[in-house]
Amino acid sequence: MSTCELVLQSIDYTYPGGHSAVSGLDLNLGPGILGLLGPNGAGKSTLMRILATLAKPSRGKVSWNGQDIALNPNALRNSLGYLPQDFGVYPALSAREFLGFLAAVKGLSGKRAATRVEHCLAEVGLADAADRRLGEFSGGMRQRVGIAQALLNDPSLLIVDEPTVGLDPEERMRFRHLLTDLAGERLVILCTHIVSDVEASATALAVMTAGRLRFHGAPEELLARAEGHVWEWTVAPSELEAVRGKYTLCASLRRPEGIRVRIVSAERPHADANAVTPELEDAYTWLIGSGASKH
Ligand code: ADP
Repeated sequence: MSTCELVLQSIDYTYPGGHSAVSGLDLNLGPGILGLLGPNGAGKSTLMRILATLAKPSRGKVSWNGQDIALNPNALRNSLGYLPQDFGVYPALSAREFLGFLAAVKGLSGKRAATRVEHCLAEVGLADAADRRLGEFSGGMRQRVGIAQALLNDPSLLIVDEPTVGLDPEERMRFRHLLTDLAGERLVILCTHIVSDVEASATALAVMTAGRLRFHGAPEELLARAEGHVWEWTVAPSELEAVRGKYTLCASLRRPEGIRVRIVSAERPHADANAVTPELEDAYTWLIGSGASKH
């Protein structure tokens, strides 16, 4: 597999109406799974469309293995696999037919197309279902078809946008494992607003809010930032609303003695509160600032 170095310098993107969706974004990426996290509207999909060469940045430069993609988009396109958020399938086709069709659209030659279709079907665990109509597939199976089509050209950059939306918990788990298996020497960018989608698999995290990059680093680094800012204690059920109003609640658990609350806060929120070891979800909540901004 070829090298994969993706460099983004000072990227801005403004929609025609004047809405700024990405601003001043710098990122330097290499092989591994990058979990790109951010709430809805943060600008993740816009950024992914720029990287997929479907949108041109208003300002800034994207380079793939040293080549400016504005000058030479094919350098990146030839190594790109993309599963967009709104990936649709033709329900009347079988998985094999659909992938064969897309392989032709992507310009793979007949023999290579046939080999790649079979390889990709096997890679996503759909070899046995290859001749079933896509209309009969579950959401998880359809997403696996989406990954299979993104893999047809054996990409060294794989971009997957919100892939677990609409999947049930088991399908979600299976899909996350699949992405981990596919990583290898590739750069996989997994874009999501769900922290648990990236928890087990991401080797690096990037967090965006309101078009800006708020964090880029190892998951451990994000966890370390929240150290000492995650608290738990037990409240009476009648106190829960007041806690929720004052702090950002990460979790609450009903227990016989009351409700165990878990919040993020710079200061100890209550005499009974104990600092606990942050989970990634807590650290993300702490970073995006909803905890800090409330008090
Ligand atoms: P995310 O993928 O993180 O949810 P998006 O990239 O979809 O974020 O959107 C970023 C911002 O750009 C949002 O405020 C959204 O409303 C806005 N936006 C997205 N698409 C368009 C569009 N076609 N025209 C104008 N604004 C848009």
